[in-house]
Amino acid sequence: MNKVVHPTFRPVLLSANDAAAGIRLFRFASPTGFRFTPGQFLMFHFVDDPKTCRAYSLCSSPTMSEASFEVTVGMVGEFSARLGALKPGQEGGLVVRGPFGKWVYDGADPHAVLVSGGTGLTPFRAMCRMKIEQDLAGKITLCCAAKTPEDLLYKDEYDGWRQNGINVKERVTQPGADANWNDKTGRWTAAAVFAAANDAAAVYYLCGPNKMVQELREGLQALGVAPPNVRTEKWGDYTELF
Ligand SMILES: Cc1cc2nc3c(=O)[nH]c(=O)nc-3n(C[C@H](O)[C@H](O)[C@H](O)COP(=O)(O)OP(=O)(O)OC[C@H]3O[C@@H](n4cnc5c(N)ncnc54)[C@H](O)[C@@H]3O)c2cc1C
Repeated sequence: MNKVVHPTFRPVLLSANDAAAGIRLFRFASPTGFRFTPGQFLMFHFVDDPKTCRAYSLCSSPTMSEASFEVTVGMVGEFSARLGALKPGQEGGLVVRGPFGKWVYDGADPHAVLVSGGTGLTPFRAMCRMKIEQDLAGKITLCCAAKTPEDLLYKDEYDGWRQNGINVKERVTQPGADANWNDKTGRWTAAAVFAAANDAAAVYYLCGPNKMVQELREGLQALGVAPPNVRTEKWGDYTELF
């Protein structure tokens, strides 16, 4: 059996921008021949502290992977703060390994339903971009959620995704006084996702904090979705920021 090789590289930061309050989008130069499948992630550490590693999902299009790749990072702790201190043009001691992961969307599903909370949207951006750029026939329904309308990631991209056939459904838990959110308030429940997708035979991809992912998995299966069609990526046991 062929051994899978996970290359290690020292990427130069090309740009860093706010994706929402407290969330940064980082773009790095790719190493030669870099390729990935949407859903995969990279492991990051700094050369002087190899034990402190963090996983970040690739959020850019695989179509542009040979030139650059992007990750979107919640600036929640020490590691992300160190990443945030890097300046464009620097490699800054950052070491990256990967890509890793078998939780992937290869574009073959007739209907993929992508469900995220908070920064869990990041791998789904790579999936949506791949569908559009490769003109894939499979349907995508995207159900994302954030705390406030301002906290929704990539919201200036949603119209383009919709124009390309992706069914984007966003919700917020704290809409404020804006009546436009009246029927789009609260977290995604399994029943709400199932109703939005309207397809028991779809493949459901869930990404975010453990508790959210676990509850949605159980709820979708109770509604009749076959267990192999509920595919989950758990990011950890953290307090949900949405
Ligand atoms: C496969 C995989 C892919 C991941 N992809 C991403 C990604 O694309 N973007 C991303 O931001 N994170 C992602 N994570 C989480 C990430 O690896 C780190 O745990 C996170 O960035 C915290 O690192 P830190 O050192 O900055 O904060 P820490 O000091 O480790 O944590 C500070 C606090 O933030 C909480 N926390 C951890 N992750 C998050 C989060 N994502 N949102 C809100 N609070 C959090 C922690 O529980 C803790 O309470 C992924 C995790 C896995 C397992």
